[in-house]
This record gives sequence, structure tokens and C-alpha cells, in this order.
Amino acid sequence: MYNDSYGVKIEINCDYKTIENFVSDINRDKPPLAKIDKISYIQVAPKSFADFSIIKTKATKQQHTKISPDISICDECQEELTDPNNRRYGYAFITCVSCGPRWSIIKSLPYDRENTSFDKFVMCEKCATEYTDPTDRRYHAQPIGCHDCGPVLNLRDKDKDIKTSQQDMIAQTAKQIKDGLIVAIKGVGGYHLVCDATDDRAVSLLRQRKRRPHKPFAVMTRDIDTAKKLAHIDTKEQKWLQSSQRPIVVLGKKSNDILSKHIAPDIDKVGLFLGYSPLHMLLLDMLDTPIVATSANISGEPLCMNSADIDELKDIWDYCLEYNRDIINSSDDSVLCVVKDKPLFYRVARGFAPLAIKLHKKLEKNVLCVGANQKSTVCIAFENTAIVSPHIGDIDSVKSIKHFETSTNNLKNIYNFKPDTISTDKHPAYETTKYASRQNTKTKTVQHHYAHIKSVMIEQNITTKVLGVSWDGTGYGDDGTLWGGEFIVCDGDDYDRICSFKPFKLIGNHKAIKEPARVAVSLLFDIYGRQAIDMDIGSVRHFSVQQLSSMYIMWQKDINSPLSSSVGRLFDAVASLCGLIHTITYEGQSGATMEQYFDIDITETYSYDIIDDKIDISKMIKQIIDDKQNKTLIISKFYRTLVDMIYNIYQRERLPIVLGGGVFQSPVLVRLLKEKITNITISNTLSPNDGAICLGQI
Ligand code: ZN
Ligand code: ZN
Ligand code: FE
Repeated sequence: MYNDSYGVKIEINCDYKTIENFVSDINRDKPPLAKIDKISYIQVAPKSFADFSIIKTKATKQQHTKISPDISICDECQEELTDPNNRRYGYAFITCVSCGPRWSIIKSLPYDRENTSFDKFVMCEKCATEYTDPTDRRYHAQPIGCHDCGPVLNLRDKDKDIKTSQQDMIAQTAKQIKDGLIVAIKGVGGYHLVCDATDDRAVSLLRQRKRRPHKPFAVMTRDIDTAKKLAHIDTKEQKWLQSSQRPIVVLGKKSNDILSKHIAPDIDKVGLFLGYSPLHMLLLDMLDTPIVATSANISGEPLCMNSADIDELKDIWDYCLEYNRDIINSSDDSVLCVVKDKPLFYRVARGFAPLAIKLHKKLEKNVLCVGANQKSTVCIAFENTAIVSPHIGDIDSVKSIKHFETSTNNLKNIYNFKPDTISTDKHPAYETTKYASRQNTKTKTVQHHYAHIKSVMIEQNITTKVLGVSWDGTGYGDDGTLWGGEFIVCDGDDYDRICSFKPFKLIGNHKAIKEPARVAVSLLFDIYGRQAIDMDIGSVRHFSVQQLSSMYIMWQKDINSPLSSSVGRLFDAVASLCGLIHTITYEGQSGATMEQYFDIDITETYSYDIIDDKIDISKMIKQIIDDKQNKTLIISKFYRTLVDMIYNIYQRERLPIVLGGGVFQSPVLVRLLKEKITNITISNTLSPNDGAICLGQI
């Protein structure tokens, strides 16, 4: 048996009946993690074999084998971990063929130990015996090791290593967490910053040091019972929490005060996940408290992968618990929520990605798709396969551009992939677009909102004409303005923009994204002109009269006030107009904060007009003002109105609906839409946000 560029090849001497049984045995008894796309067999020249063996091969051609994502600790390893009689008792890196790191350790294919960051660990005799015994569950498990031969932990403070036993390093870390300190811990695909999730002082200290005032922190618990004390969990949500992917699941927060109030301020949800590596398990066993486990990075910068990275965050952490196995490919924690029994992804990474998607049309050329600029992912596509990378992140800084390039090159190198074409967004200022133009390869641009819809069509194999509803924060339109509230009819390889929101001005451009009140005031200027300055509502009073006067001039004379049809910005404006929030500190804050005010019993909608295929919301804005900052009323009617708009166009076009764009990360909106319209599709494997763009660019 050997791995070649197309997958596993097995040569056996037998008759046809035996091979049929063999194939059905493989299908039936395959290891839990094995995913078989196809099994086929042919007759070759006979050879004689003395035994069964796995032989090494060298990759020279483009690889087709799919790489497994990193998988959480399995039940058998978990049992051995806590069994004092087992030789891997308390070993923080216990793994087997069914669990452990994969993507994070791979340098190249085929997936053999010498092509991973385990290459420097020489197996001891006992491990080597397990590795070579076909009856052992560690047979050919590449990342195995033990206390004698595998990776080891290292605990340090800001200046020096703390010399002590492996077990004591974990015990000391637990104590530091209990004492209210912040510890950086190396996870599977990157570092976490960890503190006691029940300790107000520790959590607010972490917020302060990380300069992250509001964005929710994820909380890791030891087991499902602890999680159930913190949040409302239904059976589907529980299944995801306990799945081998172990994503962060966003859940309804229970109204007790177990968790610190600083975990997810102003929202009624909490993101929970269960420990997924043996190290987490050992640590959580020594703690009687859930922990904050948030990605270790500076806002907008890539996730820390090695000691040098985490050292740059020394003013955030007090201690650092790490180990001597390299992370080759970083991957953040995946995040999802469950809407109508289906996962709705916020981030697709550890456990899920790299994601292999089957293409129903065979490609003639290799395409590299570099995605958008925020929540970036990249994808390589060849023949019938697309491989989508885990979440890379926003590409705004020198470091993150470098990280994007490294991630793209790693994916290409692992697969020995050479693109014939590079597909990129139309936005000329995106770093990904600039990257594409620096390569010596033909490039092709794809409009952003079309790519949103197309990604769902590719993933779900939709080949008929659809009505794409592509709503997000921003994307470069064909006319050079910022789009984000688009209805597009997609047919074959083209699209037609049949309707969109009447554009409004973002006063101060980028400032308007951080300050929703600016968008609100702009909408008021559209209706009331200069008189809006005298209105007695929060959005206006948020500014001084002087500021308002200069904003008015900017609005009137088009100074640094680009036009946008973005529904994301409309959410911001409504959040401000109802008095909820006038400035934000993280993307999506308006939507996340608004959801809890939605009241299912309020079924009224606001008025709007559709004139020349533009949705004019002037009437809605006036009615919102009349509702006098009644948050529940305004927000509920606003969600209902958005649903009504989609339903309206749906009635007109009578086409299946495909949803794409970051706005559809709203569980309330997606639930309402699914209840109102049956013929509606949204991705179940990629996020509706810009993380899906690369697939649509194929
Ligand atoms: Zn295992
Ligand atoms: Zn060993
Ligand atoms: Fe987008």
C-alpha cells in the first residue's frame, strides 16, 4: 500500500470475489476519520508479497489527496490520558490514528511523518512498535509520541523558563489562572490567551491589555455539563460542541452570574467550546472553572504561531505554556451557531479546513483564487476539486500581508499546485488583488457580490438560474461605488443586477464604519437636509453642532463621502437611530447587539418604495424617527422589513433564492427568511461572509 498523488493505492493478490469483499469491508470498517470519495480497482501484473506493508513514496506531481483538518482528542486517547496504568498517562500530546493534529503539522504531501513537524522527533522503541503494527490503533499514526520521545511542554514567565516537571507545569498554569493571571497557551493551530472566565478582574484586565473593549471572548469548558450551566444548549448545538471538530458554538447565555459580565458585554449570547487537545483536558481537569480562550493576536494581526510571535504580546500575558513542536499552518478556532438545525458559520478554520469541495464541472485549468481582503481565505482549484484554506484573517498590515502570502504559498506547495490563472476581486486596492498582479500569471477579476452568490452555487451544485441576495458591509461595484445591498440574477457564467438599495453617503468614509451615527446622520440629511442638525435624537446629539455643520458640508459637496448601498451600514444606521449604539469597536457589533431586541410577536413592517430598481428607504427612516427610539419596536420592524423586501423581489422574479454576504450571519434574519420562503439556500459549510469569496471566484 502507498500514497500517490491521487490517494491510496493498494496492490493485492486475489480473485475478483475477494476484492469485492475487501472493498465492502473497507467501506464498512473504515477508521472514524476516513473520508472515501471513491474506490475503484483494476487488474495489474501479478506480484508476490510476503506481508502487508505501507511503503513510502515521493511526491513530484500535483497532489490530489485531501488533507485532514486537525481533529480533537478521541475518546480512547482521553481514556488513556487519565489512566494511571497507561504509559501515556498525563501525556499532553497523546494521539492516535483517529485524532490529533494534521493540517497544522503538514509541510508537504504525502502525509508521512517526515513531511510533518514531527520529523525531528525520533520514535522510541515502544512507539515504533505501535507505529509498525497493523493491528495497533496507532499503526501509521504520523504524530505519535510519548513521554520518552515526543514533544514536551515548557512553562516560562516573561524572562525565564520555569524548571519543573511536565505535570507540575500544568499544575502551575492552573494555579496562575485561578490567581487571576493571564497565560498564553500554545494550542493546536496557534496560541490562546487564557484567564479565569468567572473572574471579573481577570477578564477586564485581559480586555484592557488586549485593547479589546467589547468584542465577545470565547469560553472553553471541560465538558458538556459545565457548558450547560452557562448557556441554553439544544441537541443539535450539543452535537456540534462535542463533535470531533469542536468549534466555538454561539449559544443563548443563561441568566446567571457564573461567567464574568465582561465576557460578552451587551449581548445575550456566549461562544462556548469544549477543550479539544490533550493539553486542554489536563489543564481543565485541574481547574474547577471555565476559561476564556481567545486567539492570541493583536487586533487585525495574524494569530501567534511560535515563541517569537507570542513574545511580541509580552505585555498581555504573565506566563506562557508552550511546547517544542512547530505549527506549520496556523488555524484559528472555528465559530458557528445553529439556525433551524443547520450550522451557520462565522469562521471556518480548525476542524473543518482545509475544506475540500467537489466541483461538478471539471476545470481545464488550475485556478488560484485569492478571495477578498477581510476574513480572507484562499482556494486552489484543479480538475473536480477545490481546496479552501482555513480563515487567514484581515489583510490590512504589513504582517498580515506576509501571513497571507505564506498561507497561500504553503497551500500551493503542499499540493504542488501551479496556477494557470489567478482569480481575484475587482477591488483595485485589495492587498489580494495587488498580490495577484505581482505574480507572473494571468489574472481575472470577479465582482464581489457575484462571487458571494456563486460560492454557494458551486458548493451546493446549483446550476439553474437563481435570485442572489448579496448583502454585506462593502464590496467594489462595477460602477466603482461601494455595493452591499444587491439583488442579482445569476445565470450560467454571468449576472444581472436587477435591484439594489438606493445608495447613501458614508460621511468620512472609513470613519463612518466605526461610527454608525455618521451613517444615521447621512440618512437624515437625505430626507431633512440641513434641518437634521436640529433634531433631538441620539444619533444627532452624538455630535457637536460644529461637527454636524462640517459633516453637512461634506455630505453636500461629496467630500470624502463615497456612495454605498450596503445593508451592513444600514444595520449600523438603525442601531444608532434607535439609540442603541453610536460608535462600534468591532465589526458586526451593531447586528450582534440588535438581535436580542427582536420580538417575534411584532410583525409590522416599515414602508419603502422601489423606484427604478432602487429600494428607497426614506419612508422607513421617517417611521423609525416616529417610533421614538423604542428599541424593541424599531429593531423588530426593521428585521421584518428586510424579510419583506426579499420576499417582494422573490414574488416578482419567482426564482430560487441564494443568500450570500456577511449580513446573513444574523441568525434572526436567516431564521425569518427560512420560515417565510422555502426555496432558499445559504451555505452550510462556509461562512456567508467574505471567507466564502475565494470559492465563488473559481
Ligand atoms: Zn486518539
Ligand atoms: Zn515514544
Ligand atoms: Fe462581502
